Amino acid sequence: MCVIKVLLMKIKRSSNVQLSRILGNSQNFSSLVFVPKCEPANDNDLSRLEDYLKNTGNICVLTGAGISTESGIPDYRSQGVGLYATSITRPTLYQDFCKSEQVRRRYWARNYIGWPRFSSVQPNVTHRTLKYLEDIGLVTGIVTQNVDGLHTKAGSKNIIELHGTGFKVMCLNCDNKIDRKLLQIKLDKLNSSIKHVSKIIRPDGDVELSNEIVNDFILPPCENCGGILKPDIVFFGDNVAKKVVDSVRNIVTKSDGLLVLGTSLTTFSGYRIILQAIEENKKVAIVNIGETRADKHASVKLESRCGEVLKKLYPNIQFDNNSNQHF
Ligand SMILES: [Zn+2]
Repeated sequence: MCVIKVLLMKIKRSSNVQLSRILGNSQNFSSLVFVPKCEPANDNDLSRLEDYLKNTGNICVLTGAGISTESGIPDYRSQGVGLYATSITRPTLYQDFCKSEQVRRRYWARNYIGWPRFSSVQPNVTHRTLKYLEDIGLVTGIVTQNVDGLHTKAGSKNIIELHGTGFKVMCLNCDNKIDRKLLQIKLDKLNSSIKHVSKIIRPDGDVELSNEIVNDFILPPCENCGGILKPDIVFFGDNVAKKVVDSVRNIVTKSDGLLVLGTSLTTFSGYRIILQAIEENKKVAIVNIGETRADKHASVKLESRCGEVLKKLYPNIQFDNNSNQHF
């Protein structure tokens, strides 16, 4: 094939990727742009996981960013397609957010612009299958490291959001908590001169922005006490609240096994859940593209896409995308 033809094909492929990124899930199609390359699940692996699901009893599920990539949200660490591989920007650290007004302004300006897309992302087959498995009594609860609210949108009931949620806002000074949607209405009024459409979002819902937009951004204080507003998300450098850690411990203890989906377990808050499960002799199964910190502890490990695996294991579940219900 001649060089020009190869170049033209590359340009076409690259513009398709850009288009998918721009349209994302707001156009209601399942985007696999942020899913790392992997082999399809083979029958042998699938039947081992099927046996695990049939024979383990009550299962607690731990999910990470790897399940939301199929909804069009990039994760942090995936090779080639994760945020760390595609951007030099790193997540805001808790200490920096608390100390610096400029850091807070930048964070909130990005979060403000990213919100319309972040809040409209829809659950995918993994979220919806887990909702079904909870309904039939196989899954006792979901512990998620994601802040995207997709398990809630899928209709799951017993969810512990280990790292908080992007859908609530808290005050660093008082107990005031507000709905993120209501803050957006307020931010729209205060920042009506800012016109920017987000093309690509990050796992915690913000986007890349110019300094000019950041400097013009107006962020209101807490209505209750004038304190600093922060999304109800556990930032890097912050700790998971003790009551959340305790509820996770309880749900793991009450379950017979732990199914890990879409996380490399790099953060200790996730990895310690595996350590507890092992200590309590629970069987661990993992589905994740790439290595995880707990591979040596797993009785079953699949290096495949979660959506593909669950769809193959439960091919007869049908979903109604509009009502967020299975039927
Ligand atoms: Zn306050």
